[in-house]
Amino acid sequence: MTNSDISNIKTLLSTPKKIVIVPHKNPDGDALGSTLGLYHYLNKYNHDAVVIAPNEYPDFLKWIPGNNAVVIYESEKSKADELINAADIIFTLDFNALNRTGQMTEVLSQNESLKIMIDHHQQPDNYATYMYSDVAISSTCEMVYNFIDRLGDTALIDENIAICLYTGILTDTGSFKFPSSTSTTHRIAAFLIDQGANHSEIHNSIFDTNSYDRMQLLGRALSNLKVLKAYKTAYITLSQAELNKHNYKKGDTEGFVNYALSLEGIVFAVIFIEDQGNNIIKISFRSKGDFSVNEFARAHFNGGGHTNAAGGRSDLDLKNTIEKFITILPQYSKALNHA
Ligand code: 5GP
Ligand code: MN
Repeated sequence: MTNSDISNIKTLLSTPKKIVIVPHKNPDGDALGSTLGLYHYLNKYNHDAVVIAPNEYPDFLKWIPGNNAVVIYESEKSKADELINAADIIFTLDFNALNRTGQMTEVLSQNESLKIMIDHHQQPDNYATYMYSDVAISSTCEMVYNFIDRLGDTALIDENIAICLYTGILTDTGSFKFPSSTSTTHRIAAFLIDQGANHSEIHNSIFDTNSYDRMQLLGRALSNLKVLKAYKTAYITLSQAELNKHNYKKGDTEGFVNYALSLEGIVFAVIFIEDQGNNIIKISFRSKGDFSVNEFARAHFNGGGHTNAAGGRSDLDLKNTIEKFITILPQYSKALNHA
């Protein structure tokens, strides 16, 4: 985003606007933290800003300040369509292609109002008037901080904004452990703590509110873990029956794939989760080092994301999806053994 883009945006925001802010489908901590952080910031200027999420999200994210004002597109479609059609500006945050918004894809594609993208995913589509895209940055929340900084407004970052932005930085950096978590990330996190983000409470709200059912489901997932030593790969499966047995709720499988990646010597980890409601297998890919799961997910499983974390899906059943995966792996033998 150039200085002239920033100055245009500043002019644009100098009078009250109707603004819609959109995260990706199945929003995570970074998607919700960044959209709500931006929401609180824009509303300080008397803009009429609203966050519209494509669908529901897990309970462990339902405490983030502003959560109660989020409009869920899947359950309030006509109200959401009205807001979108009346918007002067649409911010799209934490995704790189409009089809990442599920049911909102059509209304957003047809909409001609000015769009501003803030995102850190690879290979972004070119739909936005102003694009702040940087794949090197830890999280969209860190980018929203930078965006506010470039508008000269870090002094406006209050406790609510700080909590929102800290949340997404925390979740997208894997609690500050991924390589994308830089000294700058830590400096921004420190600033947010100074503005009122309580790091200990935020960590607790996200990670220490497990249900007994979720722990049992994790046990099942770990029992299903398979290792393919020759490819430094490990994968987990969860069938719909297994999910049902443990009263699966949205978000319960978040982070499970990381247990596979934590095995010594493993550089590629995958979880395959059966979703009979949508008739797909939802897949999460994780890697260490140079092995790009973004490219793997794009090439074989209708997905994408980052070098070390990506998602995708399969229209085959669980058994055939695993077979397909195992058949593909030998093509990557060299890359996996040198990652
Ligand atoms: P997760 O595995 O946690 O759902 O997602 C990992 C990363 O990949 C996130 O940055 C997420 O936005 C992205 N991602 C997840 N699913 C998809 C998908 O189906 N398509 C694309 N392009 N990206 C995805
Ligand atoms: Mn993100």
